[in-house]
Amino acid sequence: MVKAIDMHVHIKTGETVGQAGHKHNLGKPGQHPDEMAEMYQKLDVMAVIFDVDHETRTGVKSSNADTAGWVRKYPKTFMGFGSVDPWKGNQAVDEVKRCADLGLLGMKFQQASQAFCPTNPRFFPIWEMCNRLKLPVIFHGGTTMICGGEPGGGGLVLEYCKPIPYLDDIAARYPELRIIIAHPAWPWHDDQLAVLRHKANVYMDLSGHAPKYFPESIVHNANTLVQDKVFFGSDFPVITPKRWLDEFATLPFKDSVRPKILLHNFAKFIGIELPDAVKA
Ligand SMILES: [Zn+2]
Repeated sequence: MVKAIDMHVHIKTGETVGQAGHKHNLGKPGQHPDEMAEMYQKLDVMAVIFDVDHETRTGVKSSNADTAGWVRKYPKTFMGFGSVDPWKGNQAVDEVKRCADLGLLGMKFQQASQAFCPTNPRFFPIWEMCNRLKLPVIFHGGTTMICGGEPGGGGLVLEYCKPIPYLDDIAARYPELRIIIAHPAWPWHDDQLAVLRHKANVYMDLSGHAPKYFPESIVHNANTLVQDKVFFGSDFPVITPKRWLDEFATLPFKDSVRPKILLHNFAKFIGIELPDAVKA
């Protein structure tokens, strides 16, 4: 019986397999998708898996077909999101369509590693296609560990990961487009909460940040005003789902809110039916 949905899980696809030197996919044991499926099955947790296409910047090809293939192999454990490199223009727009055809449920973007500003009009056709196909989008929020500690942060710019003005602008422009701001968007997490409270179409996940270090305003708001808009995510392999769940259990969340964050909010968001026993 599914106990939780970890809606932010990285897998390696295409040429990203074996990219152990890439910080975001830092080699940790148990990250082959077969092993990941087993890990999630043991926890009774479903996982939303995706890779990120930043081929323009890195030359490394990822594969949405691979993601869809892992979902087909483990349909009770995995759901999938797609990824397109926004710099690919019309090809990116077509790939969004192909992701929907592959059965992927949304699209994941990373403005730092993909080096793009979401409010640049050249990318609007991508948001329009996601909007038309009713595919929710995950945007990165806050700082990133990708290239963290490298000279110049590997050339990555954090600016584009600000909830305000960029994601707030996209949410206002496309009120039907559902946007998930990934991670407590430190150091802009209060701006992130302001956008969640202001815009019905904006949500967030709690991934990539050890729960014991969550900013206090995130815990307070997730427990109260935005309790229906916050999702469990680990950002595996950055944090294992077990560590995330163990630490989350020690935080002062209300008993009525915990199951929403762990399971019900995302199940409702993505439209999956839970067995009756879990609904209670
Ligand atoms: Zn991530």
